[in-house]
Amino acid sequence: MAQLKYKDSIYPVTTGSSVLETLLEHGQAIPNNCRAGACHSCLMQATSGNVPDAAQKGLKDSHKARDFFLACVCKPEEDMEVCLPDIEQLKFPAKVSQITKLSNDVVELKIKTQQPVDYFAGQFVTLWRDDELGRNYSLASLPGVDDELIFHIRLIPNGQFTSWVANELKVGDEIFVQEPVGDCFYTQGNPEQNLLLIGTGTGLAPLFGIFRDAIQSGHSGEIHLFHGGLNPSGLYLHDMLSAFAEQHSNFYYHPCVLKAEEGMAKNIVEGDLSKIVSQLIDKPAGWKSYLCGDPEIVKKLRKQIFMAGSNMNDIYSDPFVYT
Ligand SMILES: Cc1cc2nc3c(=O)[nH]c(=O)nc-3n(C[C@H](O)[C@H](O)[C@H](O)COP(=O)(O)OP(=O)(O)OC[C@H]3O[C@@H](n4cnc5c(N)ncnc54)[C@H](O)[C@@H]3O)c2cc1C
Repeated sequence: MAQLKYKDSIYPVTTGSSVLETLLEHGQAIPNNCRAGACHSCLMQATSGNVPDAAQKGLKDSHKARDFFLACVCKPEEDMEVCLPDIEQLKFPAKVSQITKLSNDVVELKIKTQQPVDYFAGQFVTLWRDDELGRNYSLASLPGVDDELIFHIRLIPNGQFTSWVANELKVGDEIFVQEPVGDCFYTQGNPEQNLLLIGTGTGLAPLFGIFRDAIQSGHSGEIHLFHGGLNPSGLYLHDMLSAFAEQHSNFYYHPCVLKAEEGMAKNIVEGDLSKIVSQLIDKPAGWKSYLCGDPEIVKKLRKQIFMAGSNMNDIYSDPFVYT
């Protein structure tokens, strides 16, 4: 059985257990969220012992070189000594410049950093309230166009982070940002490829940056954006997206709801999002897809698009997993 050294204690790692599970079981406070290797909240550093490859999947080369790893998916194969990285090296301060309501339960948060941030539209960061509470949010902003980092945050009743955003955070306050990560972004080099963008709820946020990046880069293939909500009020930015579609001949906006309402806009379609997608885009082979938002819907769509002929390497996704 491998042994795990953390601070001054040594813990046995039960076969199949992760570093995160082991440390939490022993009452250690390790920041974490998705527990699936997606959100990077549980980033740790090994000071001795080999880090399994799976625990470094998706990390930057510079982080791999410094033996950073994701504790939730790190199942030690040999004795390891680990520590929390000096998070101050990875975080930078920003000032809240604007908080705007986009719908009943979605706010747009704009923050300004002192130094320019290097990122691709569609990546995500961890926003930290303090040393202990951090959550992932996708970037809706476009580098070089938007001066600030922009987020669409859905307010979850009694949610720790989002209640703080809703009730306490004010313009001028300081917030900490952990560097952008993720591979859900537009890549140049294939401007004629059709793009399929599907988001539920605030899953629109990364897509909002991705399609603007594509259009700005001169993408000539079709760009189809499906935005799913429970009802029409969930389709925030509806008017802006409808207008954008009128202005760009290769951009198609498909707002969809599970439950229609009388008097809703004419372009909104009622029904199951995955069925609406498969009816309109029945042969996605050769397309590039971006799927973001509700984890179950993202998983279902990933499988559906793959089964319909798309190459798995052309399917990018950010499921908004939560604890
Ligand atoms: C890669 C990634 C990107 C993300 N990007 C965004 C984004 O751009 N915008 C955004 O709004 N969120 C995004 N999220 C989700 C976000 O990180 C938080 O999980 C969410 O805001 C809830 O945080 P909280 O602290 O307020 O709630 P918590 O205190 O963590 O949870 C409170 C309760 O609500 C439940 N809960 C939490 N989230 C949800 C949910 N989405 N639906 C239903 N129940 C929930 C929890 O299970 C818990 O019972 C993203 C997540 C990931 C992994």
